Amino acid sequence: MINLESPRKFEQLVDQAHMVAVEIFRKNSRKYDLAEHEYPKELDMLAAVMEGATPSGAGAGGVGGGSGGNGAQPKETGNRNGSNMATLLGLIELCWGDVGLLLTMPRQGLGQAAIAAVADEEQMKRFGGRWAAMAITEPEAGSDSAAIRTTAKYDEETDEYVLNGEKIFVTSGDRAELIVVWATLDPSQGRAAIKSFVVERDNPGLRLDRLEHKLGIRASDTANFVLDNVRVPKENLLGSPEIAPKGGFAGVMQTFDNTRPLVAGMAIGVARACLERTRELLGEAGIEIDYDRALHSQPAAAAEFISMESDWEAARLLTMRAAWMADNRKPNSLQASMAKAKAGRVGTDVALRCVALAGSIGYGEGELLEKWARDVKILDIFEGTQQIQLLIIARLLLGKTSAELR
Ligand SMILES: Cc1cc2nc3c(=O)[nH]c(=O)nc-3n(C[C@H](O)[C@H](O)[C@H](O)COP(=O)(O)OP(=O)(O)OC[C@H]3O[C@@H](n4cnc5c(N)ncnc54)[C@H](O)[C@@H]3O)c2cc1C
Repeated sequence: MINLESPRKFEQLVDQAHMVAVEIFRKNSRKYDLAEHEYPKELDMLAAVMEGATPSGAGAGGVGGGSGGNGAQPKETGNRNGSNMATLLGLIELCWGDVGLLLTMPRQGLGQAAIAAVADEEQMKRFGGRWAAMAITEPEAGSDSAAIRTTAKYDEETDEYVLNGEKIFVTSGDRAELIVVWATLDPSQGRAAIKSFVVERDNPGLRLDRLEHKLGIRASDTANFVLDNVRVPKENLLGSPEIAPKGGFAGVMQTFDNTRPLVAGMAIGVARACLERTRELLGEAGIEIDYDRALHSQPAAAAEFISMESDWEAARLLTMRAAWMADNRKPNSLQASMAKAKAGRVGTDVALRCVALAGSIGYGEGELLEKWARDVKILDIFEGTQQIQLLIIARLLLGKTSAELR
């Protein structure tokens, strides 16, 4: 039987995450939206507390995953609701607080998901639990990540790889300790030759080009880099150094099956914040939502609100299903993309409609609604855009390869 409730065993985690969202994220939300590129120092203490709370550093709020943390599941779970579900529920709460601050939580980062997914024991010792960004995107390779041009050449004399190229839009790229860089061992061999390498942020070959000014999530730094003879020990290559004609790249891409539901969860958290605040504002204006009356017999604003809520609920359930499948080791590529596509679209749609319902109040800086409407859009872009999720869904439903349907 399907149980549509949030698992009870995570109630405490959700409560703690909510407290953090109220006390730290919401209270600093506007401050770091206005002070773009300024480091939110309030998060340092929070990160230390959370690291102390659990050995993994996943912490009270289960922060992580997506472009903001470690969503990978432990090697053995046996749990029907495990780390993916816990992280998802924590993220929803934290992003109800502020998604920009979540994305810049110290000692998290998408890079950790990649590390946890493929690192061997030795690499886990060196890199596990450290703040790791993920650098895939390049000026000529965004949605089509197989098109990346950054090269990694093996230097036999020093036993190192030498990386050269350019990486753009790296979330936490300036603040993280590590950057997981995707590079090709041989551009002529296509996606099979793409590998990921762990680069220390202070590597002398890694040159920060600029920090982006953005529409939203301004608390989160987004960095562009030039890689100019970045030398890393050969042990910093994650996974196998072999260029396997089949499977290797697909394996790398499977990291997204864990992280896409988490990005969807971020959108659900932001949209819930919008809905809750809009409901309060409607209440103050004398408009009550009545679930027992047909939509046509209620004020238009109430009917609109109920329709937004049902869309939000659909996104939430799709996302919980995808996370649950990841916890139970069921192949979930289709469901992960469905969740990301639905939640990304619903999040953006709900936020803008809430701004509209609140009228001029919704558009002004006196409310966070306008900020949430700006913040939420990124969740429909990174980790695969709306259009790319729909493309993946179509391929999986029709049984087509990426070469057949592009
Ligand atoms: C704030 C921010 C943070 C980011 N953080 C990271 C990060 O940490 N690490 C990282 O590696 N990247 C990151 N990115 C990059 C992000 O993942 C890419 O922007 C995204 O994958 C889209 O790539 P693109 O911008 O090159 O757009 P393009 O791929 O050029 O796409 C442009 C438009 O065309 C559409 N499109 C492309 N191909 C198709 C197709 N086949 N069919 C239909 N429509 C298509 C896209 O959906 C999009 O609407 C970040 C981006 C932003 C804005």
